[in-house]
Amino acid sequence: MSVLIYIENWSGKFKKSSFELVSYGSQLAKKMSGNLTVLSIGEVSNDELKNLGKYGATSVLSAKTASSLDDKSFAGIIADAAQKAGASVVVMGNSFTGKALAPRVAVRLKAGLVSAVNGLPVSVSPFVVKKKAFSGKSLVEEEITSPVKVVTLSQNTAGVTETPSEVTIEELSVEVSPSAKVVSTDVQTGKILLSEAEIVVSGGRGMRSADNWQPLEELASVLGAATACSRPVSDEGWRPHHEHVGQTGKVVSPNLYFALGISGAIQHLAGISSSKVIVAVNKDPDAPIFTAADYGIIGDLQVVLPKMTEAFKKLKAGS
Ligand SMILES: Cc1cc2nc3c(=O)[nH]c(=O)nc-3n(C[C@H](O)[C@H](O)[C@H](O)COP(=O)(O)OP(=O)(O)OC[C@H]3O[C@@H](n4cnc5c(N)ncnc54)[C@H](O)[C@@H]3O)c2cc1C
Repeated sequence: MSVLIYIENWSGKFKKSSFELVSYGSQLAKKMSGNLTVLSIGEVSNDELKNLGKYGATSVLSAKTASSLDDKSFAGIIADAAQKAGASVVVMGNSFTGKALAPRVAVRLKAGLVSAVNGLPVSVSPFVVKKKAFSGKSLVEEEITSPVKVVTLSQNTAGVTETPSEVTIEELSVEVSPSAKVVSTDVQTGKILLSEAEIVVSGGRGMRSADNWQPLEELASVLGAATACSRPVSDEGWRPHHEHVGQTGKVVSPNLYFALGISGAIQHLAGISSSKVIVAVNKDPDAPIFTAADYGIIGDLQVVLPKMTEAFKKLKAGS
């Protein structure tokens, strides 16, 4: 029983989420007493591919085709690679890309699919995986009974593990006939990616208006953090929709999550509950966020936020 992991690259570079997938694949292959094949699509240097050996990759298939293909072409390459590698389990991240590709790959391979799994399977024979349900209030176990299985892994649920190995790279020649053409891409630059951030500073309706976001951005800049927000904030247009965290937004798992003026509704907690440490600032001592937070400050943000920023500035200057 072999495992194929598809990892995304960003302009030819891999990120933490890619390393987590490779680490996961290495552990899964061991658990299944099988081999691991890692698939990369797009222009990625052999040095970058070799670096995957740090996380347990031994065999890498590299399809050095254009990175901006349509989903149908990507899915075709992944399914062909899975068949070439004789994979019985195909894994990709539960990112926007993974969510778009996994069902297409599953159809091509006549495979059962479970998305957003949490960590390694409970058992490999039968193949049972666990995932969150009811906005993260419970965990369910699901069995995939088809011979080939496809899963997407929730980010930050498996962690990055270093198990250095020798890597063999094989170029995969692919022929694609895209049914859609990417005309242009708009790449966000200069900002820390929310899904990759170790620290996230997030604001809710308690920030009162879009004009009050400068102090929050200052705190994020001092901490080297990504900025995020609750859903009503993006609905109001105070912040862009890609910053919205929660059940209907992004799921984040940073080491440190600041919830500023966020009440802590269950739909918001669904997106942050796997954060390592949650710090909440709220003027209402009964706000539900305090039951989820590891540290809480009861107070008005207008007073607390500038003080926090000053304290972190001093701490950074002293270190
Ligand atoms: C189907 C569905 C899906 C949803 N999905 C999401 C989702 O993905 N993400 C999400 O966030 N929400 C989601 N929601 C909305 C969710 O239910 C809450 O309404 C929302 O999270 C509340 O946002 P908030 O905490 O910013 O605002 P509020 O609930 O209005 O809370 C504002 C908080 O700020 C505090 N505050 C006010 N002024 C200050 C001040 N000066 N200093 C300090 N504290 C202050 C208040 O005490 C309060 O606790 C969803 C709802 C539904 C029905």
